[in-house]
Amino acid sequence: MNRLEATERGTLLTCPDCWGVLSMRTEGDAGHVYFRCQIGHGFSIESVVAAKKQQLEDRLWSATLTIHEVIRMLEEFETQLRPLVTDRNVIAERRARAQRDIEILRRLTESNEPIAFAAGRERARRGERRP
Ligand SMILES: [Zn+2]
Repeated sequence: MNRLEATERGTLLTCPDCWGVLSMRTEGDAGHVYFRCQIGHGFSIESVVAAKKQQLEDRLWSATLTIHEVIRMLEEFETQLRPLVTDRNVIAERRARAQRDIEILRRLTESNEPIAFAAGRERARRGERRP
């Protein structure tokens, strides 16, 4: 294949904006990569990775908030609804597990490092912003 030709193929990725299927296009000698959904949302490789990273952070944060809610609910069971709780050890164990789950999610969020691509590093070196 001539590197100057553009090629396009479907991917298993979803659009960060609308959840449509993304297709991937490479073009030019440098093999620039672009993603586009059926609606027309377009992404560079850096922006699609950044959007997926943000989606992951949002979902981890949502899970963390839900676990905090569960902890508050269990605390409520232990204090306000004590007559309804038949096994307080189960409640305490569940609260401890929820605290451990929050710590796991915190570590996952902190380890979600961005990926630097060669083209992005080159643009950053030249002082250019993302396309
Ligand atoms: Zn889209």
